Amino acid sequence: MDPSVRQKSSPVSSKMGNRDSWHESLARAIRDPDVLFERLGLPTESLEPARRASQLFPLFVPESFLQRMEPGNLADPLLMQVLPLDVENWPSPGAAIDAVGDTQSRRAPGLLHKYHGRALMIATGVCAVHCRYCFRRHYQYELEPRRLDEWEPALEVLSRDESIQEVLLSGGDPLMLTDSRLTEIIRRLEIIPHLKRLRIHSRMPIVLPNRVSQSLIELLTGSRLTPIMVVHANHPREIAGDCEQSLRQLVRSGITTLNQSVLLRGINDNADTLTELSERLINVGVIPYYLHQLDLVQGTTHFQVDESAGQSILAELRTRLPGYAVPQYVRELPGQPHKTPL
Ligand SMILES: *Cc1c(COP(=O)(O)O)cnc(C)c1O
Ligand code: SF4
Repeated sequence: MDPSVRQKSSPVSSKMGNRDSWHESLARAIRDPDVLFERLGLPTESLEPARRASQLFPLFVPESFLQRMEPGNLADPLLMQVLPLDVENWPSPGAAIDAVGDTQSRRAPGLLHKYHGRALMIATGVCAVHCRYCFRRHYQYELEPRRLDEWEPALEVLSRDESIQEVLLSGGDPLMLTDSRLTEIIRRLEIIPHLKRLRIHSRMPIVLPNRVSQSLIELLTGSRLTPIMVVHANHPREIAGDCEQSLRQLVRSGITTLNQSVLLRGINDNADTLTELSERLINVGVIPYYLHQLDLVQGTTHFQVDESAGQSILAELRTRLPGYAVPQYVRELPGQPHKTPL
């Protein structure tokens, strides 16, 4: 997971007026725990552990996301999602490397097919942020396609299976691909007649909002495939400033935009926070989709919230929000034909 590899070779393609191009924003993202601590004025006794933990899974946080954090506060809910901690390296019995059965459902290089009617492409292994709770932090991305010709076997499987109507671009973060690369992939998918929809799962509209450029919107709305964007925000304070503006742009351009969150201890595990998150989302036209129970993966178990606590929070959300603003609380169990409602 080294975002610097891709950004060096990418042509600058954003046309967002006086905003930085997203490539420039990526290049300026913070990767050094020392810089993070200095920028936010964090207590230095936590720096050494952060340095240690970032050796296994590097720190990576874009400027726009940092701007939404409160200086000096180690418990800031945005900071907690990206701050490397020693606890990640403690043994966690019961935790797996592949908790969700990705390996079993791989039908071709880069192609996961678990559920009826839709298949998922691991479009890239890199992301614009490194979330400490990530369930794919151990995924072997180096085995997946990079060049277009390496996608041929996956495209072949998609062409032959007429039950598949929807392709999900995931990763990693598929919007780390340049617009021209995305265009190539989308053109190849468009010529498969039974495909109807293209879904993009990305955290970039949240953490690096200038990725939502006019050219990206044109690319998505200009396709024969109906576009669906699934963004990923966990806390209401993420939906602010340039992020709010980018979400509005997606919605106004007619792209169905949904949000998924992960239930995270100390970050969003209470009804007030999740109510406010849903409200901020629906106020800009984004529909809450899933609230995921954390997958038990090595290095992430300190974020775990009890299922019973999650259920009480959901019960509370139902009393406070319009029905369409209550996300489905789900977990992913290997071998099941859909995400399992809790
Ligand atoms: C989660 C997931 C999907 C999408 O499931 P939906 O319930 O349609 O959102 C598709 N494929 C794979 C492999 C997944 O893990
Ligand atoms: S953006 Fe998604 S895939 Fe990337 S580190 Fe965060 S949770 Fe994992």
